[in-house]
Amino acid sequence: MQKLKLFFLLLVFLLQCTTVPITGRKQLNIIPQSEMLSMSYQQYDEFLKTNKLSTDKAKTQLVKTVGADIQKAVETFFVQNNMSGYLQDFRWEFNLVESEEVNAWCMPGGKVVVYSGILPVTQTQAGLAVVMGHEIAHAIAEHGGERMSQQLLAQMGGMALATALQNRPEDTQALWNTVFNVGTTVGVLLPFSRTQESEADQLGLVFMAMAGYDPNEALAFWQRMAAGSGGAPLEFLSTHPSDETRINNLKKLIPEAMKYYTKQSQ
Ligand SMILES: [Zn+2]
Repeated sequence: MQKLKLFFLLLVFLLQCTTVPITGRKQLNIIPQSEMLSMSYQQYDEFLKTNKLSTDKAKTQLVKTVGADIQKAVETFFVQNNMSGYLQDFRWEFNLVESEEVNAWCMPGGKVVVYSGILPVTQTQAGLAVVMGHEIAHAIAEHGGERMSQQLLAQMGGMALATALQNRPEDTQALWNTVFNVGTTVGVLLPFSRTQESEADQLGLVFMAMAGYDPNEALAFWQRMAAGSGGAPLEFLSTHPSDETRINNLKKLIPEAMKYYTKQSQ
């Protein structure tokens, strides 16, 4: 029986495996993209209704400009690698909300929120590109769907897994709520795994470089983040430990990202 269960687990894994762009890592992802996007768009709208958009026109414009730059880089990358179909149902949006929280996130489908509290840490346009590139990378690498799939696997195991989603949409919603932490602090994700963090750094560096921002700025940003930001709540740090491991990892990743770096848009 144990062997049979293992066989089915393996089968599910092989059938439902997707490959993360750039890193080439195989991941388990059994949540259909359509389902992820509809939950994401619904929750993003809800978030915008219940949070205050920034009235600072210049800063809002900065967020939208950097967001559009990263979006263009992502789209270019996907076209170059014959994968543009994946982005077809993305509905990109970049908003700055008025909040002291040092935070930013991107939900599936390109729904980005930057909190005004993180701007003193990002400081420059390139610093903002570090954060937005990293967050968008989490969405592009489908880390939310991967987390949900892992939890589903842990909860249900083996055979029932493949059909579970079609039959029990409310369970999928419950999983979403867990992974995206709905009901407590909206938008504060459960901490990603170390693998996912490193992957978001790697993809984020490439996207920011393609958008014309110097990937070396990532080091400076994470060092500022580690130094703290004057007593404001550091939600971003709770999900993004800014320790020596990350800094050392970034140093290893930057040379590869530099190959994508072009200065034309600066
Ligand atoms: Zn992250």
